Amino acid sequence: MNKFFSVNLNLIKKQLKPTIIVHGGCGEYSDEKVNKKLIGCKIAASLGYKSLQKTGSVLDAVENTIRYLEDNPNFNCGYGSVLNDLGEVEMDASIVDGKDLSYGGVFVIKDVAHPITLARLIMEKSSYCVLTGKGALKFAKNNGVSVLKPGALVSPQAKQLLEKSTQFGATEAGTVGCCAMDIHGNLAAGTSTGGLNKKLRGRCGDTAAAGAGTYADNSVGAVSSTGHGESCVKVCLTCNILNEISKGVPPKQAASMCLKNIQRRFKQTAGVIILTKTGDIAAAVTASRMVWVAIKDGKVFYGTKTGEVLVD
Ligand code: ASP
Repeated sequence: MNKFFSVNLNLIKKQLKPTIIVHGGCGEYSDEKVNKKLIGCKIAASLGYKSLQKTGSVLDAVENTIRYLEDNPNFNCGYGSVLNDLGEVEMDASIVDGKDLSYGGVFVIKDVAHPITLARLIMEKSSYCVLTGKGALKFAKNNGVSVLKPGALVSPQAKQLLEKSTQFGATEAGTVGCCAMDIHGNLAAGTSTGGLNKKLRGRCGDTAAAGAGTYADNSVGAVSSTGHGESCVKVCLTCNILNEISKGVPPKQAASMCLKNIQRRFKQTAGVIILTKTGDIAAAVTASRMVWVAIKDGKVFYGTKTGEVLVD
């Protein structure tokens, strides 16, 4: 019986294909903005997929995908992050390794081009899970991450957005996230954001919090979220979705249940990408748009709104 069971498990494992899925944030975007995000997400997914093929590391894939997006001003992370009420960039990022639940998060970080790299360094080179503010900057310097001049990450688009918005929250930028799986079933997830436009200095949402913005567990799947951070934190969004999947709920249904819960209880919107341990991909959103792109076994899938799944 045991032998039979282990043979079958090996067969299942052999069928796993390298897979990556990326999102570019949810919100009410113009078609022009959606197109720019789609181009960016396709490039990022393809970089991540190549990295996965080259090194076989899901952490490299997630980090490299997100690093590209952190350099692209069409996304709300790294250069291009939305600004706080004082006109400054303050970012959050996290990464989770599904193999052993290792987690690195950086909250309210300034003047670092790639917060996702810093999150990974915290996970791999310290005994902590999370660092914030000045301590995180000191750790960055000690670990060879350059610290930029104040204001270097402020983009003209972010300045404009701050000037035209009257209240906290409105964003046209878009947090980014990525989940990856290798042929052995190892999973990782990462998320990076500049947060919400005109936020109070020091505010952080779900993105850097394991279980809210990012989660991965090889025994179930990986998830990255976007949307109203305070709501995602309150329902432990990514952890709860994986919890539903572990009970046998199909990924799309699990996402939709948890996102509708946020809508019903807080009247807020959010979106997620999911990659399950069997290699299934899913994307769901309650805002009007969320660009996502997945590459599985060399094939490209994408969508820009609820229920849309297109193939290149
Ligand atoms: N979830 C992010 C935050 O609240 C924002 C977003 O995804 O647009 O910080």
